[in-house]
Amino acid sequence: MLLEIVKYGHPALRERGKKIKEFNGDLHQLARDMIETMADAHGVGLAAQQIARALQLFVIDVRGAEDRPSTMEVGGRSVNPEDHMPMILINTRVRPTGDPETGPEGCLSFPELYGDITRPASVEVSAVNERGEPVQFHCGGLLARAIQHELDHTQGVLFIDRMPREVKAEMQPDLDALHAHTKATLSRRG
Ligand code: ZN
Repeated sequence: MLLEIVKYGHPALRERGKKIKEFNGDLHQLARDMIETMADAHGVGLAAQQIARALQLFVIDVRGAEDRPSTMEVGGRSVNPEDHMPMILINTRVRPTGDPETGPEGCLSFPELYGDITRPASVEVSAVNERGEPVQFHCGGLLARAIQHELDHTQGVLFIDRMPREVKAEMQPDLDALHAHTKATLSRRG
């Protein structure tokens, strides 16, 4: 089932996610719906906050982004990231392992807005999957960037919070317009 992706200005985007403790059928269905919603929107990631759920849950799929490569190692061995997509990551922690790298980012909650963001180029990821089983890997490139972006969402942090002030200032009129539009839509719905 396709879910509604909430836009900048919706209060859910600022909520910190609760840790997930029950790995039941409802969670599996939610994760499946999020993957379907992400694919439909041609996104590389989608966090629970973006469908108005305050949970430590996000999904990732970097297969569509052929011009922005990803690397992945499991147990010290290189693997093909495509073989591990789509990914469901729950209660995720990351540890930076690479130098900061600047690259373009967008967000499904900020349609058509893009900005350069600096983040560690590679990270060690510890999480659990939808069955509550531990997931551990090292990654770089787009996959590392996408995971850090989605992890931020689960803590109520948005990519505009990480933009250099001058980049955000340039975008501010568009941000204000989007924020106002979202608020107006929400109040019309009551
Ligand atoms: Zn986003």
